Amino acid sequence: MDTFRKNKPAIPEVIAGPCSAESREQVLETARELRAAGISTFRAGAWKPRTRPGCFEGRGAEALEWIAEAKQLYGLRTLTETATPAHLAAAVASGIDGVWIGARTCTNPFAMQELADAFAALPPQDRERLEVYVKNPVNPDIELWIGAIERLRLAGVTNLKAVHRGFGDYGKHIYRNPPVWRVPIELHRRMPDLPLYCDPSHIAGRADLVAPLCRHAMDLNFDGLFIESHCNPGEALSDSAQQLTPAELAAIIDTLEARGTSPESSVTERLEKLRGKIDRIDDELIEVLARRMETSDEIGILKREAGMKVLQPGRYSRLVESRVAEASRLGLSESFMRGVLETIHEESVRRQLGNNLEF
Ligand code: PEP
Ligand code: MN
Repeated sequence: MDTFRKNKPAIPEVIAGPCSAESREQVLETARELRAAGISTFRAGAWKPRTRPGCFEGRGAEALEWIAEAKQLYGLRTLTETATPAHLAAAVASGIDGVWIGARTCTNPFAMQELADAFAALPPQDRERLEVYVKNPVNPDIELWIGAIERLRLAGVTNLKAVHRGFGDYGKHIYRNPPVWRVPIELHRRMPDLPLYCDPSHIAGRADLVAPLCRHAMDLNFDGLFIESHCNPGEALSDSAQQLTPAELAAIIDTLEARGTSPESSVTERLEKLRGKIDRIDDELIEVLARRMETSDEIGILKREAGMKVLQPGRYSRLVESRVAEASRLGLSESFMRGVLETIHEESVRRQLGNNLEF
């Protein structure tokens, strides 16, 4: 895959903090631990956009006071999410250093224009001082993302950055928001001077998938990472599964650094690049297998409804022969391909039988 830029520092800037600011203690403890881990920019959501009503929607303006206290105590730069002109006014009044605009807001041009108008109405020194991070829209529509950035530029915002947080999708995927890397790559092609960050937490949806995504983002030369970290992820009131402890985050940063500064040996570098490629291919393989199983489940339902048997031997042997022939055309051995197909077929049949027993 193409790279964004040459001669980048070994490790990009890391912005980190909890999904939401839940209490004064949680904000200050997380900020303290992150500062100790070498983080200098702290994020925390005061208002949380939630898909369903009744979920924790953030502590609002009160949370801005805790974020301001964290800034003062630990010398951190601070960011929070603003979705409305009222959020922006309150965040600016609290002394925030920057704001991010969330995926749901970026998706809506009316909301974006209202926010842009609110930026235009700020005193010029505030508008120029603020860093503004624009997350991609929920759907992989690059024009909508660029449109949001343009509205802010036209409103006089100069310190703009983009954040890639993956794209919403229907159905089961390993990722909460599949990355569709070609979209941020295209954004960079169209806006080469706009700093581009990656938010692996919202892409992953799971803490254990964050580290490989950080590696991918570095391989693709993103300018920085935007990561969720909480002093006690298990107790988090929002996005609990995807948050890392500050110590876990520090360990990831260490491995990224070690990787970035490894000896100038061209072998190590090439090996790392190839491993990154393998990681991405494996991600794709898993997605494809999951999609195949979902389709096979649908066939299972249809067969049940029509009173057909699960195993249709004629179909299976035709399938194997045609796939083996195609695979050998691409240089894959017959025995390897037969083994793969048998394993896949066994799992399909097990699922169509509608039980969780070993087949
Ligand atoms: C967040 O960063 O906490 C957030 C709500 O992000 P997104 O808008 O990407 O879902
Ligand atoms: Mn979140």
